[in-house]
Amino acid sequence: ATPTSIMVGTGRAAELGVLFRKGDALQGLQEVKVIAFDKTGTLTEGRPDVTDLVTLAGEEAALLAEVAAVEAKSEHPIARAIERAAEARGLVLPEVAKARAIAGHGIKAQVGESALLVGNMRLMTREKIDTSAFEIPLAGLADQGRTPVLVARDGVAVMVLGVSDPVRSTSRQAIAALHARGIKVAMVSGDTRRAAEAVARDLGIDHVEAEVLPKGKAKAVAALREVHGAVGFVGDGINDAPALASADVGIAVGTGTDVAIEAADVVLMRGDPCAVVTAVDVSRKTMGNIR
Ligand code: ADP
Ligand code: MG
Repeated sequence: ATPTSIMVGTGRAAELGVLFRKGDALQGLQEVKVIAFDKTGTLTEGRPDVTDLVTLAGEEAALLAEVAAVEAKSEHPIARAIERAAEARGLVLPEVAKARAIAGHGIKAQVGESALLVGNMRLMTREKIDTSAFEIPLAGLADQGRTPVLVARDGVAVMVLGVSDPVRSTSRQAIAALHARGIKVAMVSGDTRRAAEAVARDLGIDHVEAEVLPKGKAKAVAALREVHGAVGFVGDGINDAPALASADVGIAVGTGTDVAIEAADVVLMRGDPCAVVTAVDVSRKTMGNIR
């Protein structure tokens, strides 16, 4: 393609809500064989809700207030869901000290005299928390494709919450359109295998990598490249930045975090995954490679 046609192509894409930050991304995208999507906030709305709450202690309200107070210190969408659940019950949140987010795991903090841990099973394993008392509710959440959030206080598992994040209304359509263009679709998620697979099955995704830590997302991109060739990666979060940077074409959802946008070659102005299809079409047309 000539410099002029690249200019026309990027202009056309911009009108359609797709920002190509570099001309070679327009070139790169038509060569992509597989596109990997982050799940949370990309294929899903990124606005999960608390659907379940299980505690043994019989002090549900006080415990939820403590958990919400800890989550107020976290940036994760799950944290917002838990804060809303506490707000809906009109709970007053206690003071929190020494809050520390642990990427891909959750968060720990001090509430009054107690040390609280809030996060996934990986966090509990890492901190050697025995979660066997919650085996049955955890299995129930997994069966429903929900994401479990576990809470430990002073080294003892005390609560499990279930959260669920609705799939975006256009995700299925976007994936079908990519398949129709001969592009394979993968999902790379930090969420549990059961929750990730439930969404992937629903959307018709070919390949799922779940329980991936942020630095593992870049590795997943490299592995996909080995098997399929050039890789596009679509994501919205801080945890997606390494994968966006290492993909052949990194595509950030414009409603996502600045860190993701800065790491990307292409930015989608809206949260709609169908904009990825638009980007592919503009790139193929511009490169005179209409298939
Ligand atoms: P993702 O965007 O796929 O959720 P992350 O790496 O941000 O990936 O998080 C991975 C997992 O770690 C989450 O799915 C969740 O189980 C857990 N997690 C991270 N932060 C929190 C938090 N503040 N509260 C509860 N769980 C969390
Ligand atoms: Mg995300």
